[in-house]
Amino acid sequence: MYDINNIFAKILRKEIPCEKVYEDEFSLFFKDINPQAKIHILAIPKFKCTNFSDFLKNADNEKISSFFKSVQLVIDDLNIEENGYRLITNSGEDGGQEVPHFHIHILAGEKIGSLR
Ligand code: AMP
Repeated sequence: MYDINNIFAKILRKEIPCEKVYEDEFSLFFKDINPQAKIHILAIPKFKCTNFSDFLKNADNEKISSFFKSVQLVIDDLNIEENGYRLITNSGEDGGQEVPHFHIHILAGEKIGSLR
């Protein structure tokens, strides 16, 4: 069940501010408030979905395609493809998800440590 009062829903409704990096009809990208790398951007679809699976199962193909193409567009804008980057999406309790609106972390700008 989607919590309409989660912090990213509030950012989408402009009830709280964010440091916007990119926005279009289907998605919003903004800087993580607690960056774990020199570049740490959060990508969220403008669609009420709790996690990756909820988004893939319930959004239509136009929204899904547009969202992932926007991720690549921002990767291009940030000019991080050559040096590399890491995409992460946490889901649920075991995945360590804190904010229950699907998001992708884009980490880059320095060597990202190993996962374990
Ligand atoms: P996750 O653990 O994958 O749910 O990640 C949630 C992320 O949201 C964390 O990296 C937080 O630092 C980030 N975050 C929480 N509140 C805000 C906010 N108001 N603006 C930007 N990032 C936030």
